[in-house]
Amino acid sequence: MAFAELGRRLRLGMVGGGPGSLIGPVHRVAARLDDRWELCAGAFSSNAERSARTGRETFVAPERCYGRWEEMIEREQARPAGSRLDAIAIVTPNHLHAGPAIAALDAGFHVICDKPLAATLADAEAIAAAVERSGRTFVLTHTYTGYPMVRQMRAMARAGTLGRLRVTHVQYAQDWLAKPIEKQGHAQAAWRVDPARSGAGGCVGDIGTHAFHLAAYTTGLQAEAICADLSAFGEGRVLDDNVHMLLRYPGGVRGMLWASQVATGKGNGIRLGLYGEAGGVEWFQEQPNQLRYTAVGEAPVILDRAGPGPVAAAYAPRTAPFHPEGYLEAFAQLYADAAEVIAARERGADAPEAADGLPGIADGVEGMRFVAAAVESSRRQAWLSRKDWG
Ligand code: NAD
Repeated sequence: MAFAELGRRLRLGMVGGGPGSLIGPVHRVAARLDDRWELCAGAFSSNAERSARTGRETFVAPERCYGRWEEMIEREQARPAGSRLDAIAIVTPNHLHAGPAIAALDAGFHVICDKPLAATLADAEAIAAAVERSGRTFVLTHTYTGYPMVRQMRAMARAGTLGRLRVTHVQYAQDWLAKPIEKQGHAQAAWRVDPARSGAGGCVGDIGTHAFHLAAYTTGLQAEAICADLSAFGEGRVLDDNVHMLLRYPGGVRGMLWASQVATGKGNGIRLGLYGEAGGVEWFQEQPNQLRYTAVGEAPVILDRAGPGPVAAAYAPRTAPFHPEGYLEAFAQLYADAAEVIAARERGADAPEAADGLPGIADGVEGMRFVAAAVESSRRQAWLSRKDWG
């Protein structure tokens, strides 16, 4: 395997992911699952004591736990090549992505950053400029692109199995903001409803970007116009907690997107459907190992990631056939792919196949343009075409 030619695990540092955080621990598990990464340093919190606590729990050497990401980047850059970090994962709230991402890239580290790319389009573009000048790898963790059957959908849409595409339908519905928990000290809710930390979009930035990206990722199409209706149902909220949207894609393809954080009864209700002249295919995150595929005029069939039939692209099974895999494995797939890409780069080899399925900086900037366009379309109560959203 190409990765093994590097002869060692990659060394990871982390910004964010301190005590009580949501996604940092998921990144750490995902990085370990395929045994290609080793967590070596962290500015897990802006509070040095809390950062050190996470360091103790994750067996990071005390001298490599920092209370300021600036210090981490400076001190880690100065280490000898044999112990220096290869990449830095950024898992802070949205407004704290650009600072560490740009500093890490400029210091020569690869970056694995969570979505949305930033809190503002200007920050997103500044990160993109740093990726360009540094030549480093930048990975954006759009989690659901790591699912084998999402990649299978992508392969089918691209191979023409569905015929000429007609309709996309994507949903990401949650209910955790149905009550105003941001007023009750809920850490994750508090920053998500705050424009200064979340950005111009609430739900549309937090999970609408996942939904928007899923449709683009699987179809290979970029929306050319959108019409969005953003609502804030939670009392006193200034950012949206629900979004309905119509989309137009090239070739007459029509799309619909619903993202909500007030949809009582929905946990992480992600559904994606692609419907073409020759067939349709649907995926539901609750049953992530299967796809429902229907050829026009025929009975629906269930494709299983481990069963006969088309095999998901760029997918290495971790468990025996028909043992279920899920969210953590999907996240791990992104870390495994990132490891392949970064290891190839470190060895001076050509970009491996894994690079093809991995979301990157362009996806992040596109996501931030999408958020800005959705907010503006909703404000104007009008369709916006791509030329209006940059
Ligand atoms: P969180 O509030 O749970 O955790 C944020 C962490 O960042 C905390 O540990 C906090 O101490 C730390 N932090 C804040 N300021 C810091 C600083 N200056 N230096 C170092 N650490 C600092 O947030 P979360 O819900 O885990 O979200 C973090 C990011 O991940 C957000 O951008 C969010 O959109 C994204 N996210 C992505 C997914 C996904 O499916 N890919 C899921 C959840 C969250």
